[in-house]
Amino acid sequence: MSKRDYYEVLGVSKNATGPELKKAYRKKAIQFHPDKNPDNKEAEEKFKEAAEAYEVLSNDQKRQRYDQYGHAGMSGAAGGGGYGGGGMNMDDIFSHFGDIFGGGGGGGSFFGGFGGGGGRSSQRVNRGSNLRVKVKLTLKEIANGVEKKIKVKKYVECNDCKGSGAENGSSHETCTQCHGTGQVTRIQNTILGQMQTSAVCPSCNGEGKIITNKCKSCAGEGIVKDEEVITINIPAGVAEGMQLSVSGRGNAARRGGVNGDLLILVQEEEHPDLVRDENDLLYNLFISIPDSVLGTAVEIPTIENKVKVKIDGGTQPGKILRLRGKGLPDVNGYGRGDLLVKINIWVPNKVSKDEQKILEKLQASESFKPNPSSQEKSFFKKVRNFFD
Ligand SMILES: [Zn+2]
Ligand SMILES: [Zn+2]
Repeated sequence: MSKRDYYEVLGVSKNATGPELKKAYRKKAIQFHPDKNPDNKEAEEKFKEAAEAYEVLSNDQKRQRYDQYGHAGMSGAAGGGGYGGGGMNMDDIFSHFGDIFGGGGGGGSFFGGFGGGGGRSSQRVNRGSNLRVKVKLTLKEIANGVEKKIKVKKYVECNDCKGSGAENGSSHETCTQCHGTGQVTRIQNTILGQMQTSAVCPSCNGEGKIITNKCKSCAGEGIVKDEEVITINIPAGVAEGMQLSVSGRGNAARRGGVNGDLLILVQEEEHPDLVRDENDLLYNLFISIPDSVLGTAVEIPTIENKVKVKIDGGTQPGKILRLRGKGLPDVNGYGRGDLLVKINIWVPNKVSKDEQKILEKLQASESFKPNPSSQEKSFFKKVRNFFD
């Protein structure tokens, strides 16, 4: 999944000025705003994408880093993980809207601007909070991908009032303070003249309605805490610290808003034999001194089973055997890693009298004297010390 260039997202040139960026973002935010595109996932993604682009480009430091390193320089909040699209949630985006759409006279806030002509109301939509869960996976599960069922405690829509918060669904009354708009407007006198500012109505919290007869099951909230078993599909190749997001599976919102997202944090269980290095797996093999001289066949554990590997006579410790394709699949589908087997020689620290005699004989023997120059030169280049 490749991310689009931030400048391209906003449709501006690489040397766009601050006000140009602001203007471009404003245009995109209006075009893809959820109030204008109800239940349109694509618009929501575009809305988030634009917010993320603006968030980075409007900050001099972040913009400089982005210009220099591209998306790779943007680890952390926005753009991190490269998974599931969009590091920002709607609440973050809306909370920054004050800078973009607020201030200055002339027509109140952005959210008051839509919805004329019935259908959707103009109030700000409640959004459920994101639900975060951790999932612990074995390397085998990571290698193949896995379906996990996890039990979570979360807010779900209240069954008795169907999320409305009102008993029998009939007792909503238009808020008298804001007359149903959810917004209150204040006129302030400043040195620049009269300024009009809009704020969320304190009586109804911006909902435009007040419930006179609250649902008893949920105390008028429209949501109740419940336990739910969620089935999640983990793709193959994920890694420790990655965050997967399933949109709309988080907490339900108060009084029939939009559900939050389910965010799944991947954790890796340690494997008894294998160590992960990105998509490769590493294994430390110990062979005996005679085996290293004479050669042997050994069994190497892989994720799925064991494979037999021949060790040639005269193998030096530190040599690395590469079992191609026995590593982990790439999460983005770019092939598969290898299993790297590092050869170590086991040196006993206690031997019998007989063994000692044999070893003393070998000690004096010419062929047991170290003579590295006789080995192929490339051997030393091959030795990598990633196990240490
Ligand atoms: Zn209820
Ligand atoms: Zn109100």
